[in-house]
Amino acid sequence: MADLRKEIERRRTFAIISHPDAGKTTLTEKFLLYGGAINLAGSVKGKATARHAVSDWMEIEKERGISVTSSVLQFNYDGFCINILDTPGHQDFSEDTYRTLMAADSAVMVIDGSKGVEAQTRKLFKVCVMRHIPIFTFINKMDRDANDTFDLLDEIEKELGIATCPINWPIGSGKEFKGVYDRNTRQVLLFSDTLKGTKEGHQVSLSIDDPKIDEYITAEQKETLFEEIELMDGASAEFDQELVSKGELSPVFFGSALTNFGVETFLEHFLKMTTSPLPRKADIGLIDPFSEDFSAFVFKIQANMNKAHRDRIAFMRITSGRFDAGMEVIHVQGNNKKLRLSQPQQMMAQDRKIVEEAYAGDIIGVFDPGIFSIGDTILTGNHKFQFEGIPTFAPEHFAKVRQVDTMKRKQFVKGINQIAQEGAIQIFQEYNTGMEEIIVGVVGVLQFDVLKYRLENEYNVEIRLENMPHEHIRWIENKEIDLDKLSGTSDMKKIQDLKGRPLLLFVNAWSVNMTVERNEGLELSEFGRE
Ligand code: GDP
Repeated sequence: MADLRKEIERRRTFAIISHPDAGKTTLTEKFLLYGGAINLAGSVKGKATARHAVSDWMEIEKERGISVTSSVLQFNYDGFCINILDTPGHQDFSEDTYRTLMAADSAVMVIDGSKGVEAQTRKLFKVCVMRHIPIFTFINKMDRDANDTFDLLDEIEKELGIATCPINWPIGSGKEFKGVYDRNTRQVLLFSDTLKGTKEGHQVSLSIDDPKIDEYITAEQKETLFEEIELMDGASAEFDQELVSKGELSPVFFGSALTNFGVETFLEHFLKMTTSPLPRKADIGLIDPFSEDFSAFVFKIQANMNKAHRDRIAFMRITSGRFDAGMEVIHVQGNNKKLRLSQPQQMMAQDRKIVEEAYAGDIIGVFDPGIFSIGDTILTGNHKFQFEGIPTFAPEHFAKVRQVDTMKRKQFVKGINQIAQEGAIQIFQEYNTGMEEIIVGVVGVLQFDVLKYRLENEYNVEIRLENMPHEHIRWIENKEIDLDKLSGTSDMKKIQDLKGRPLLLFVNAWSVNMTVERNEGLELSEFGRE
């Protein structure tokens, strides 16, 4: 099975994350361009066309100019088979980003050099650190006036609590942007105007000691560079592959995706520093990606990707072995039911295509008739196991939902349940009252907008949301508890989740503590997983 090993070894699967407008789409597009997957940037994954084709299935994305959902793209470069997982660019959807990161082996964080770490994305970037995977930073838009390089690095370290290690160093920015200095090779990669939208471009590489360099950069720039290099060598962390692999040190690169500068050198370094598919934790121990038995887990469910046919796609990350279209697999959480994955597909640049075979590291989307849940394990072979679950985030905003037209109860219940199953929202009921009143919990308020929009557009149900003041949710851990006798604070609300488990909502942390004090032995937990 040399082929199996070879195929898996050449795989690299990473998520790309950024603040909206930092240049994630442009960078992704340039990757595809270098990989030969597309011929002209903008023609495929530009705002007007491919975003349309690939991830713009939801109108709301266009209206708000943000990416709500994530999609997956595959391309080849220099013998590597690369899977890029796109993520939503707003922290209100950081739970979705977290799930996507579960399917990735590393993450690329794109930062706008003139803006640094922006408030809206702080939480988004933090989930990257929570996941402990290697994080690579690409500081983009160096062709625009950028913040001071040291300040940018400082900010990343402070905001994210992760050390940084610049692999290259920018020479100027904006109109004065001349290129980058590679710390390892001591080469200066000089940049001159490139042809936008193509991978053509004029790049010159010279040793820092080469006198010819003076033809490209001014004496002043050279002096600044020497000063900065000296400062940096003293101040910044040394490159340490082990720390990078543990997600404790982020290699930093500078460039300009729009003008192609620094993109290819980033890709080359990145592919060397990141790993082939890593083993994944299951209840029987680590699962070796090179095992001949196929296994995968569901990390994302997305409905109505194609308006023409109201489909629902379950995205799976293959964790071991090889997948063949038509093979019989076992759905562990579906009572070990045997099934064939229907219409397995992958995204190649702008196209969805049916896959014949795929390997550990790859992501496939399969048609889901409503049987899969996030975190489910799919496998073949004699050993049955379950991958460790994907945690749900505690919602921080709650609202009561009512449908405007009470005749549409059925569609409403169906819609809201399906959207909850996708993990886009969490739903609860009032304690002891049936489904009459539904309470929706979200991590970020934009999720409310998505819910309202989708119910209207996909299920034809208009809803009204009434915001609740509660911000803290706690699951009750005690099995034996008489909820009626529980004495809480006046703001406390008793609710239950869909499995009937009791929960409490509080307006503030003080009330949580007060309630624990008043009820001896009461155990509350912030997480909903058993
Ligand atoms: P996303 O929201 O992160 O996907 O950002 P986009 O890739 O759509 O880029 C947002 C805007 O910034 C677009 O108008 C891009 O043309 C522009 N942009 C992207 N990269 C660069 C860059 O390196 N330099 C400059 N000047 N503009 C860029």
